[in-house]
Amino acid sequence: MTSYRVMKQDEYSDTVIYRLGCSCGNPECDLVLEIDCDPKLHQVRLHIFGNTAASIYWNYPKWYQRLWRRFKYAFHILFYGEVELHSEMLINGKEHIDSIIEVLEEAKQSIETYINSRPEEK
Ligand SMILES: [Zn+2]
Repeated sequence: MTSYRVMKQDEYSDTVIYRLGCSCGNPECDLVLEIDCDPKLHQVRLHIFGNTAASIYWNYPKWYQRLWRRFKYAFHILFYGEVELHSEMLINGKEHIDSIIEVLEEAKQSIETYINSRPEEK
């Protein structure tokens, strides 16, 4: 399937993977959605992959302030194993939104087909 800045990357029996393109045209901003079913747990998982960045530029105009923020992020990851990051993808216009909705509808159909094709569990 090909839509405006949205494409299906891969499909397996229980997983569908889409790439959502950013309106700026830079593939570094794209998001990858992986939707997979777990019939044993009766769950659908949505994985969102994208490049993320530490928020070091807003409110930190001086280079040493940004360096200090990077150290703080690094130490936070070191001691807590996680850190809050952000990512953004630009959505431009109705056609782009419709394309994203279309892939989600298609993913929904794939999930329903997969669930209905599984044998009943006792
Ligand atoms: Zn972008």
